[in-house]
Amino acid sequence: MPYEALREGLHSGMSSEYLTLVAQQLGIKMELVPTNSWQQTLQKLRDGDCELSPMLNRSQQRDQYLAFSQVYFYAPNVLVARKDQPFLQNFEHVGRRVLAVPGGYRLQEYLNIYYPSIETLNVASERDGLQAVADGQADLFVGSLYSINAYIQQDALADLKIAGWGGPQDELRIGVIHKYAYLLPEINQALSTVTERQHLDIQNRWNNLRIVENSNVRLAWQIGLVTLTAILLLVAWNLWIRRYNLKLAEQNRQLVKLRHELEASNKELQFLSDHDPLTKLHNRHFFNHCIDQDNRDPTQQQSSLILLDIDHFKAVNDGYGHQVGDQILQELAQILRQCVREHDLAARWGGEEFVILCHNADIEDAVALARRIADKVEETSFSRNLAISCSFGIAEVRQHEPMQHCFERADKALYEAKSLGRNRISISKGDTSDNMG
Ligand code: GH3
Ligand code: MG
Ligand code: MG
Repeated sequence: MPYEALREGLHSGMSSEYLTLVAQQLGIKMELVPTNSWQQTLQKLRDGDCELSPMLNRSQQRDQYLAFSQVYFYAPNVLVARKDQPFLQNFEHVGRRVLAVPGGYRLQEYLNIYYPSIETLNVASERDGLQAVADGQADLFVGSLYSINAYIQQDALADLKIAGWGGPQDELRIGVIHKYAYLLPEINQALSTVTERQHLDIQNRWNNLRIVENSNVRLAWQIGLVTLTAILLLVAWNLWIRRYNLKLAEQNRQLVKLRHELEASNKELQFLSDHDPLTKLHNRHFFNHCIDQDNRDPTQQQSSLILLDIDHFKAVNDGYGHQVGDQILQELAQILRQCVREHDLAARWGGEEFVILCHNADIEDAVALARRIADKVEETSFSRNLAISCSFGIAEVRQHEPMQHCFERADKALYEAKSLGRNRISISKGDTSDNMG
């Protein structure tokens, strides 16, 4: 190509168009004889298996079996070299370089006659010749500028360049075997009717460079379209991710807020489950939980229990109302908080009864604490300027004694304090109790 080729079993290229024009003028029908190479084509012409070749140079050898029409197509031949080779001008400067020439081409004959000293490499086709130069098997290739242009473009042989003129230009004609030489006047007549416009159109149609450019433009469009689509997809993806991230951030903010609210509710719930809502002291449930743990702790040091009950509290409620009673319970709770030590545990046992577990305290320490509380209660002016008093029952926790048992002893001591007139501290000593006014 662009001269001629078999494409899907059909004759195509410039020569096919000229042949169609001539066949039409002559009113004859051409039949295609497919061949695999130029040598095979020449052989078939020599053998008479084929009677016409549409586009070839005249040579002495070919004159023996072919008769030629007038020249209807001119094309320069050029030398092709790798880019690192110097510019050679023409065959004169080939020197010791190896020159690849397609087998059966008229150029071979020409070189044998005029440049017999040039070392040639016989190649099967123009394409093979160009590849031989690209691969370094030959230094130069000589062939038609038209087809070289096509092959260099098609095969992307970018490292090759035109290095000079390659002998005489091609003067292409129609050749027929001698048997049909009588057709030549009519063939020449038909060729002479081909207008310059038709010549140009045929050349332009098969000019490979234009086709390559077209396909490049198409390829560029396709690449551009794919790139644009990819960019648009990326932009859309980014927007989607941004929106998704914003939504996620908002959800996270709400989650954090919910977590804080939940933590606050949990804290409140925890407080409510451990504390008495009126006095804010620990409740009976929490107290029991603590003494359970103390029971299980073998390293637990000496501790004492104080039970405390407000005297005649019913009369306060009855005389001043339940609300005043509540206030007094809160005021007494505050006194307990102020008087107990850091490691003591004060809780509301129920109603107007309170309990204090004094850790690391013997009976004297517990009595001293009860005394401090009683003094404080005595000097305090409660709601409505009321004065109240409390009774105390105290028991020291004996070694290995279950807390429940100790509690019963303290309760007994409290009962004793009540029955002995109230506003006093009673100590459990074994089964009997001591009383202090
Ligand atoms: P004592 O000296 O024998 O202990 O006499 P008391 O009146 O204190 O004892 P009693 O057991 O007869 O009455 C206790 C009263 O405590 C009855 C109840 O109305 C009152 N009380 C219990 N819990 C509360 C409370 O939460 N608020 C108020 N305002 N009163 C309460
Ligand atoms: Mg009471
Ligand atoms: Mg009571």
